[in-house]
Amino acid sequence: MIIILYIFLFLFGTAIGSFINAFEYRLRNKINFVTKRSACPKCKHELGVLDLIPLLSFVLIRGKCRYCGTKVSYQYPIVEFLAGMLFLISGWYVSSRMHIYSVSDLFYLFSIAILIGLMFSLFLFFALYDVKHKIIPNKVVIPVIIIAIISNMIVAAVMHLNLFSSVWLIIGEFSILWNILSAILGALFIAAIIIVTKGKGMGGGDMKLVFLMGLILGWKNLIFAMYAAVILGSVGGLMWGAFAGRIKGLKIPFGLFLSLGTIIAFLFGEDVWEWFWII
Ligand SMILES: [Zn+2]
Repeated sequence: MIIILYIFLFLFGTAIGSFINAFEYRLRNKINFVTKRSACPKCKHELGVLDLIPLLSFVLIRGKCRYCGTKVSYQYPIVEFLAGMLFLISGWYVSSRMHIYSVSDLFYLFSIAILIGLMFSLFLFFALYDVKHKIIPNKVVIPVIIIAIISNMIVAAVMHLNLFSSVWLIIGEFSILWNILSAILGALFIAAIIIVTKGKGMGGGDMKLVFLMGLILGWKNLIFAMYAAVILGSVGGLMWGAFAGRIKGLKIPFGLFLSLGTIIAFLFGEDVWEWFWII
């Protein structure tokens, strides 16, 4: 039963990956998301069902447009695969933290895994967009920040159903106020780096991304995520430099490493902190 669930999560993830690819392209080229159907960027031929199956289509059409023969970027299958893996990892994460006794448990696992997978996919999108265009799009990050603040409020409300008598719970450790505070402090930290480095290292997009990370992760995991991002960014930046044959003037997409850090911190942050306190 659980295997079927994992397969379904993976397939669902590849479909989301396909959506991320389309979304990235349409956002960049200012194409309407709702009314326009997907088309080949080169010959503008509308894509059929056969072109739109995640992963499989790329193999079936052998990486070329069926209508004009233009090569399809490897970005498409790679992002679809990564999104599939992220949903699979979400399923593993949830199942490792709960016991399955009934079908309703399974359904619960599945719903939570989908939610976490969607959150991860969002960061996959930011990573992709930053790698390709060296920017975190405001049109996405700002609405998502608003959604994250509202979600925080909903979580707080559900956790402390009686809002008026539980002021202490609202300012308790895992509460909306702490999350907002860590978001603000994280963003200020990036702002300080921007001022010190005169905007060479990071930009306003990274600041907004860190604000969002604080809302999702809370202060402990935000620290861990930023720490991981700096380490990954340094290693990645050096490798990038070695690959390009130069370090100076290279623009490292730090949003990629922040996104990676977020996913790692979400999955392993609590365990690492526990381990940290023991030593
Ligand atoms: Zn074409």
